[in-house]
Amino acid sequence: MRRVSVFGATGSVGVSTLDLLARRADVAVEVLTGGRNVDLLARQAVVHKARLAVTAHEECYKPLKEALAGTGIEVAGGPGAVVEAGYRPADWVMSAIVGAAGLAPGFAALSQGKILALANKESLVTAGPLLLAEARAHGATILPVDSEHSAVFQALTGEEIGAVETVTLTASGGGLRDWPLERLAQATPDEAGKHPNWDMGQRITIDSASMFNKAMEVIEAHEFFGLAPEQVQVLIHPQSLVHAMVSFRDGAVMAHLGAPDMRHAIGYALNWPVRAELPVARLDLARAGRLDFAEPDYRRYPALDLARQVMETGGASGAVFNAAKEVALDHFIARRIGFLDMAPVVEATLAAYAARAPINRRPETLAEVLAIDAEARALAGTAAQARRAAAV
Ligand code: NAD
Ligand code: MG
Repeated sequence: MRRVSVFGATGSVGVSTLDLLARRADVAVEVLTGGRNVDLLARQAVVHKARLAVTAHEECYKPLKEALAGTGIEVAGGPGAVVEAGYRPADWVMSAIVGAAGLAPGFAALSQGKILALANKESLVTAGPLLLAEARAHGATILPVDSEHSAVFQALTGEEIGAVETVTLTASGGGLRDWPLERLAQATPDEAGKHPNWDMGQRITIDSASMFNKAMEVIEAHEFFGLAPEQVQVLIHPQSLVHAMVSFRDGAVMAHLGAPDMRHAIGYALNWPVRAELPVARLDLARAGRLDFAEPDYRRYPALDLARQVMETGGASGAVFNAAKEVALDHFIARRIGFLDMAPVVEATLAAYAARAPINRRPETLAEVLAIDAEARALAGTAAQARRAAAV
């Protein structure tokens, strides 16, 4: 039996992961974690016979405990309990918490020398070098689950990274792709939260519309595959059928295609290094008819420029960028700032941090990363307030 744990089980990636796990007889679920969705978490824990169910919120501990009374399933609550759960024995761990909150549990899992299936892109953006060093130190393996990165990983099988010229990540353009630039300032969280091709959590869906998701993924690819900033490129591809392409020095391009279904990337990480049967739709290119590609308009997507700036600066800038983006997104979702205010808030936060501390200095411990994250959140809060004050 393979022991598996799913962090962020109640989210979009978590639910897809459990869907795949339910089809297998050879896995035993150790830990499931969730947030405020206690009913779903309790149901999942019962159905999948988890040994431990953890809610990230202390106030949800009691309701979760009550919901699981008499089942024999252990229950815990609070952010500390989520991290603790990362130390539980497991052979395969899915990291699918959204945001920087996924960082510490992932580190805990790596310290156990496990396979970490990494959907939480914030981990690589905020602490890429540290995370990879932690995996090396403990003989643990990180497998990318972000669909583009899984695609690159697959295209690189049996290849040398030195033979790579460029890596191209595709972007659908998100829910507002066809809106005129002048209208974008008025976009609401509901409008930005609809995705044409992928069914994902609210935060990543809005990040897709602003291209902050792609900006994060560019940094993620730079960190995970050790690519130079100029080697990571982005193309708009409305059909979301080509997930990524790797161009080699002999002129060959390996593209990864498939239906937009996260269960492919999750399943690849679950079965790796073997390719096993997966319940995803088969690609029908004749039916798709065409594949379109276009250069992204950088005026429309300032987040992509910010990603470049972060890769060039390195050090603490990834953690600052991510924290600022999370705060800007919170403010947008709460309708305190507009859609086009998010990038200026992140830019202002990077500048404010750099004015106070050496932003190109690389954090050396997880505690340092979390301190940078906290400081950047405070600065971003101030930047968002200023943006709001300027607008009214
Ligand atoms: P989601 O919002 O649907 O679910 C997030 C999960 O994290 C939930 O279980 C929630 O309870 C939990 N959570 C939220 N805040 C938490 C906190 N502070 N502490 C502990 N747990 C918390 O998110 P999602 O769309 O499934 O995305 C999860 C991660 O995977 C994100 O990092 C996202 O960028 C990445 N990702 C998602 C997709 C996708 O298709 N949804 C694709 C690629 C990468
Ligand atoms: Mg992705």
